[in-house]
Amino acid sequence: MAKTGIVYLIGAGPGDPGLFTIRGLELLRRADVVVYDRLIAPELLREARADAVMVYVGKATSHHTLPQCEINSMLVEHARHGAMVARLKGGDPFVFGRGGEEGLALLAAHIPFEVVPGVTSAIAVPAYAGIPVTHRNIASSVTFVTGHENTLHTETGVDWCTLAAGKGTLVFLMGVTNLPTIVKELIENGRPPETPAAMIERGATSDQRVVVGTLADIHERARAAQVQPPAITIVGEVVSLAELLGGWSARRLRTLYRRAEENDG
Ligand code: SAH
Repeated sequence: MAKTGIVYLIGAGPGDPGLFTIRGLELLRRADVVVYDRLIAPELLREARADAVMVYVGKATSHHTLPQCEINSMLVEHARHGAMVARLKGGDPFVFGRGGEEGLALLAAHIPFEVVPGVTSAIAVPAYAGIPVTHRNIASSVTFVTGHENTLHTETGVDWCTLAAGKGTLVFLMGVTNLPTIVKELIENGRPPETPAAMIERGATSDQRVVVGTLADIHERARAAQVQPPAITIVGEVVSLAELLGGWSARRLRTLYRRAEENDG
């Protein structure tokens, strides 16, 4: 029987391939099998060995992904056959990435694994729009919140009262569909409607779009702009810094765009 392999749960960052870690790249270049989600930069995938088995587990169009249990068993099977598996996940594997579930499944199957943290979209995507998630005298805390339907109203879900209180920055992931609920709950629980808010679609990619408004009108503005997932919603006074601090990103995004064109052509 083959010696058991190993699985690396690797954060691939939010889009810009330049945000991938050195450790992630070293492992990706050596892996026998690469299991990857949607939103992983094509430039990164080209770093895999020419003979690596490439397995895509997310469908971009329907937002349908392979059931998590099947992904878990696939990782286990490849490792049981002795493979070194690079499991590439968007952003950071442990920030709404189900990396914990994959780790637990590997543990249960006695497969060795390691985690390689990545640059999470929750921080990097606001940054590419010029928004620091904290800023002295403006916001001294930041909360990452899932806007996913299944967790919005469960017991372990979102505590709107606490979130709405104070001036801390709120970053919602997976919240495009539920934006009306998010806005309603925050306002009803006491966040002022004039609080600055922004939505960033496909942040840190050459397709990045930013919509800025207030809690009161962000839904209307996002609807007018037809904001689609993947997008992040950020609520708090820090959003007002976007205009001042966002100038640099246009240059970086143009570079990404040029590279994508070259690679396509
Ligand atoms: N583990 C990931 C998050 C996975 S949940 C991380 O750390 O970034 C998927 C959600 O992340 C999306 O619904 C969206 O809210 C957000 N997201 C990921 N990449 C994004 C991007 N490039 N631009 C905007 N939002 C992004």
